Amino acid sequence: MLHFNKVTIIGVGLIGGSLARVMKAQKLAAEIHGAGRSRETLEQALKLGVIDHMGQSAADAVENADLVVLAPPVGAFEQIVGEIGPRMKPGAVLTDVGSVKGGLVKMIEHILPPGVHYVPGHPIAGKEKSGVSESTESLFRGARCILTPTDRTDPRALETVRSLWTAAGAQVVTMDADVHDHVFAAVSHLPHVAAYAMVCTVAEMNAGPESYISFTGAGFRDFTRIAASSPEMWKDICLMNSANLVEMIERYQFSLNRLKKAIQRGEGVKIEKIFTLASDVRRGLK
Ligand code: NAP
Repeated sequence: MLHFNKVTIIGVGLIGGSLARVMKAQKLAAEIHGAGRSRETLEQALKLGVIDHMGQSAADAVENADLVVLAPPVGAFEQIVGEIGPRMKPGAVLTDVGSVKGGLVKMIEHILPPGVHYVPGHPIAGKEKSGVSESTESLFRGARCILTPTDRTDPRALETVRSLWTAAGAQVVTMDADVHDHVFAAVSHLPHVAAYAMVCTVAEMNAGPESYISFTGAGFRDFTRIAASSPEMWKDICLMNSANLVEMIERYQFSLNRLKKAIQRGEGVKIEKIFTLASDVRRGLK
């Protein structure tokens, strides 16, 4: 049966807080410790009952933990792993929820001391709102969770993390870390960049006293919902998956240019063909 004596969540925000809530609701951990950046967030998490204790530092908070979950923005991982690695007990499991895997997984495996079992993860659930106040026990229900084990991953630790995400209601899928980064550059990181760019494009335009943005309706709002996401988190993701993301931006520019040329040339048949293809694919998404 899945049970931990001590769990430490580093970065008790939307994702870390939601996973803590799952463990609380299902009594999977005797005690949950939280560590992070600001004292305010940890006090809030304590008040909300998401964690039982708050640590002075991540390194102190991981002592004697059976499971440590890394859930800050991915740019913070390297420093935190460097600090906590030597303080984790032998046999403990470290997992993460970072939206980028490839190079990050290699870096973590490189700096972790032997005896600490690392299982890389990425739940495909979230929203444009962040912070522990947005965390819910149901966030991962019905979502996929990608685990990207390597040939260094301990099989028992992998099963432990798989069971945790299954308990959270997620469907666990395993994938190569580099493949993960190529796929998610296309289906997640590019749409975020496109949404941020779309909002900037329109926000810079004014019609007399009225800004163009004040006329936006459902279409603009649907397209750009994710541009309200955490700039800090998305900056880190873009920088840590830059080669894949640049490739996807270029592919998107190619598609935009193809449409631009068809529009300039008045090629109605071509435009409708492209729109029909996209419309069919979009309607087919569950
Ligand atoms: P979030 O709600 O903003 O939470 C991030 C938490 O990390 C906050 O509690 C923050 O503390 C803390 N933090 C920030 N910098 C830190 C540092 N240097 N050291 C320790 N703690 C730090 O973000 P989130 O949406 O939960 O995302 C967290 C992770 O999950 C990211 O790696 C992201 O890539 C991944 N992820 C996100 C989504 C999504 O849709 N949101 C989905 C899947 C995976 P303060 O409040 O004090 O700043």
